[in-house]
Amino acid sequence: TVFNVGSINVDHLYQVDHFVRPGETMGSSSYQQLLGGKGANQSVALAKAGAKVKHVGAICHSDTHIIEQLQSYGVNTEWVAKVEETTGHAIIQLTGEAENAIILHAGANHTLTSRQIKSVLDNLQQGDWVLLQNETNLVAEALQAAQAAGAKVAFNPAPMDVELTRKVLPYLDLLIVNEVEAMDLAQVDTIEAAADKLPKDYPDIAVMMTLGKEGVRYFSAQEDIQVPAFVVSAKDTTAAGDTFIGFCLAELSQGTPMQQAMTKACAASAICVTRMGAAPSIPTMNEVNDFIAQ
Ligand code: ADP
Repeated sequence: TVFNVGSINVDHLYQVDHFVRPGETMGSSSYQQLLGGKGANQSVALAKAGAKVKHVGAICHSDTHIIEQLQSYGVNTEWVAKVEETTGHAIIQLTGEAENAIILHAGANHTLTSRQIKSVLDNLQQGDWVLLQNETNLVAEALQAAQAAGAKVAFNPAPMDVELTRKVLPYLDLLIVNEVEAMDLAQVDTIEAAADKLPKDYPDIAVMMTLGKEGVRYFSAQEDIQVPAFVVSAKDTTAAGDTFIGFCLAELSQGTPMQQAMTKACAASAICVTRMGAAPSIPTMNEVNDFIAQ
């Protein structure tokens, strides 16, 4: 089982010519409302990849349709609290160049309690993973408690908080970062410099670095593995990283070797970037297997 302690958002997607500029009021040519948030996306990806996933989070009590949506993907929602606070949401601008710009409001995602986390961790079994992103409160506490409870711990520090990430490194089995997060953490300006510096700065941790259309690189004290991206025509990169993380962790939690897990995850995220939106753009394991076999 993967316990994913993470955000649940409603994404409002607007198709635009360019990102809105200071003082500008701009029309949008299309609008869609979809389930999102890095946490929920990663739970959906885990479920679609065939993992047993329990989402730990919070939404506004009136938004029960979100629970139904998560369940329809196969995500267990027993640990999703229903609170007074508004459900987290994101305002997403999409351009024709497959770029996005996002405003986030955390809302209920910042109402997790120590008690909720403790109750969840009381249910851990041997071999379970605990996954977190940085869109909920109590991140450091949850990571530390997860390690203490004997879980395998993965952290995707998105959005990046360098101080927090450095503080929690001792609790992690796997750190998963994209290019921007890797450069921020290494405090360098190029991805090459980050790839050079991170293993030297943190020789004891395993780092998964996703590199957009360049693919992904993993390094630990023992291994250094690179997997190229699949060549596709990208339409919307929203949730590419989340898809990668969900599929990679789903594979690892089922004992798949690292390189094979990375390849599956690259294929899944390549499919994701060819489709619009977040959760709905995440493929199923069958689609991924067909894509690889092509
Ligand atoms: P994030 O969405 O967090 O910024 P990345 O952009 O690194 O993450 O994307 C995650 C993964 O998605 C990459 O490792 C790669 O496998 C895949 N991917 C992203 N963009 C493309 C693309 N244009 N073509 C093919 N695969 C892509």
